[in-house]
Amino acid sequence: MSLNRLQLVCNYLPSGVHLLAVSKGQPASSIRELAELGQQDFGESRLQDAVKKIDSLDDLKDLRWHFIGHLQSNKVRGVVQYFDFIHSIDSYLLAERISRIAGEEERHPEGMIQVKLREDPTKGGFHPEHLLEVWPKLIGLPNLNITGLMTMAPISLDLKERRNLFKECRHLADHLGMTNCSMGMSRDWQEAVEAGATWLRLGTKLFGKRSDDVNFNTDITKDD
Ligand SMILES: *Cc1c(COP(=O)(O)O)cnc(C)c1O
Repeated sequence: MSLNRLQLVCNYLPSGVHLLAVSKGQPASSIRELAELGQQDFGESRLQDAVKKIDSLDDLKDLRWHFIGHLQSNKVRGVVQYFDFIHSIDSYLLAERISRIAGEEERHPEGMIQVKLREDPTKGGFHPEHLLEVWPKLIGLPNLNITGLMTMAPISLDLKERRNLFKECRHLADHLGMTNCSMGMSRDWQEAVEAGATWLRLGTKLFGKRSDDVNFNTDITKDD
């Protein structure tokens, strides 16, 4: 079942577009199943759940772990220890903290900066004007390798509006000289690919329904 879903998506992807399998709310056995089919990048949004799964999949050496949830400051060390990518850097203070702790932990995570291109009280992220202001400081942080932007489309937008939003994110990333745009989820990944996404974050499209969906929304007001 997962094989068909994985092939369906992969057949459609232009080169340079990576697939992040969002495994939050899915058991380690489902991750293992997809890993056996060749998928190496997995996304999690809650540290505690992720750590258990990462530890239990320790025999799979080629997996890369991506943190995609709202990152609270007291979780930064754990995330830096366990994850290779952080897609959800939504403030300068957070970026600074990640860099400092990454230095202490002798890690060098790849980061994407979350941007908020439409008003949405449930989502975090930099407003573009603010991002442009702090950009020189962000890319100057020593232990964080920023390679692009991440964005989420408010659920209220129709597909055309989402496509426009994704194009804006692509333009902003190009303007900043960044390769990556982490954008597009199960409901809008094709629009994101058309607009120039380089990382698609797909959960239910690959794995089917999550076990306990209410606990895995991306609402910034919900804590870990
Ligand atoms: C859950 C989640 C996804 C995946 O959502 P699906 O609709 O299951 O594809 C992608 N990005 C973020 C930030 C998420 O929290």
